[in-house]
Amino acid sequence: MDKGKVYLVGAGPGHEGLITRRGSDLVKAADVLVYDRLVGSNILLDAKDTCEMIYVGKKSADHTMRQEDINQLLVDKAKEDKLVVRLKGGDPYVFGRGGEEVIKLNQHQVPFEVVPGISSSIGGLCYAGIPITHRGVATSFHIITGHFKDDETEHDWGALARLQGTLVFLMGMSNLKKITDKLIAHDKPKDTPAAVVHWASHPNQVVVEGTLDSLYDKVQAAGVSSPSLIVIGDVVALRKELSFFENQPLHGVQVAVTRASQQASGLIDRIRSLGGQPIALPMIDIKALDPKEQMDHLVDHMASYQYLVFTSVNGVKRFFQELDKRGRDSRILHASQVVCIGQPTADVLRDHGIRADVLPNRAVAEGLLDTLRPLLKQGDRVLVPRAKNARPLLVEELDKICQVEEVHLYESQATNQVMALEDFKKIQVVTFTSASTVKHFMKAYGHHRDLILEKDLVSIGPITSQALRDFDLPVKSQAKVHTIDGLVEALKDLYGGDHDNQ
Ligand code: SAH
Repeated sequence: MDKGKVYLVGAGPGHEGLITRRGSDLVKAADVLVYDRLVGSNILLDAKDTCEMIYVGKKSADHTMRQEDINQLLVDKAKEDKLVVRLKGGDPYVFGRGGEEVIKLNQHQVPFEVVPGISSSIGGLCYAGIPITHRGVATSFHIITGHFKDDETEHDWGALARLQGTLVFLMGMSNLKKITDKLIAHDKPKDTPAAVVHWASHPNQVVVEGTLDSLYDKVQAAGVSSPSLIVIGDVVALRKELSFFENQPLHGVQVAVTRASQQASGLIDRIRSLGGQPIALPMIDIKALDPKEQMDHLVDHMASYQYLVFTSVNGVKRFFQELDKRGRDSRILHASQVVCIGQPTADVLRDHGIRADVLPNRAVAEGLLDTLRPLLKQGDRVLVPRAKNARPLLVEELDKICQVEEVHLYESQATNQVMALEDFKKIQVVTFTSASTVKHFMKAYGHHRDLILEKDLVSIGPITSQALRDFDLPVKSQAKVHTIDGLVEALKDLYGGDHDNQ
């Protein structure tokens, strides 16, 4: 991969798994990413932190950037010796104006490479359960623009109507009525199966099915607009048997994850893998604290502590950062038993080459105490690196048994980033994994009480549910088992049923 070169990359129909390997490698390496509206937002998450992201998307009439300007931008960025990736929805050469961009690069002697992508016309239909050809049903397919600049570029409707293969119109939603009317007027049977696939392969994919003469009204009733594929042909009927994407338990459900703990990322992955659309609502910012003298002393006397107790992923991370700063590593822990509150904490510890010696069954302070009490002796010294504003219980209780010392390596603060109201409105479900996330959530969004009441509030367990009730909020569902898995089960029970009859 070269600097000073432009890579024209097809991003596929939207789902982040549907970009090619070459495309994905390039996204990760890009210094500049120039992308438009159809590129799935999860694909963009792979870009480097330092990558310059330039949105040049356009909605049919309201162009944000003219094609000539985009062409020029690519030339300019390449001349600055950047690795430029031009990401386009689907395939760059299927109604993507990729050719124009490459011609311009060539004129300016800018080196280029083109990476094909899965066109929405094929891959998007696949995600709707519609095979673009099928033995005995359709033996050809035709991909047609539905966007007409003027009457001169009109299609030969008679010829299109006579085609026996599958017809797929791109960019055709504003002309849907005209397209269906013209085909009917040229003797295409009115009862030909037809469908509109909106945001194919995106988490909010919607398919409207009908026939050539009913499709327009159905689409109007469903309120579906651009971007959509219009597909006409008998293959549409195969959807009943071939549909898979929309059958996922959480398909089409926007689930907010109020992030307070590292468990959140696990929950986000699970929601996504069930076809839901996770929305991270960060509630807490982690501020590193630097207790310099205390840490200097600790690293030299670590061997005098029998136990080291980690109560959070952040505690582990910060502890090892401080060791590293002082040119030390995990070997200074050789004489201590290392205790972790739960599996995510133990996993991060293992990344530092240490297996937890003690891991309680219940990942809360009380569980940790139950496990430690029988182990600890009066003279034992226990070090607890943790947050300044953590619950006092653990340290207070340990103090009754042995000698305990805390080191405050960070502080969690309520975040002041609040999501845009428009996005907040779209959220259907809000999940809460602790009472403190409820409090933080209400602090950030409590003034939108009417909107919150429209959402389903789902809690991980009784303490969290009580926190919701304390705010006079109804709990739609509470996890039977008070873990992330239990919470996911509760979501499946709530929303998974819709698909049973498909
Ligand atoms: N190069 C793209 C097409 C660009 S033209 C490709 O190969 O897919 C833009 C049109 O493509 C949109 O108006 C819409 O008709 C269609 N399109 C692209 N991605 C889509 C998606 N995920 N869902 C539905 N339609 C899509």
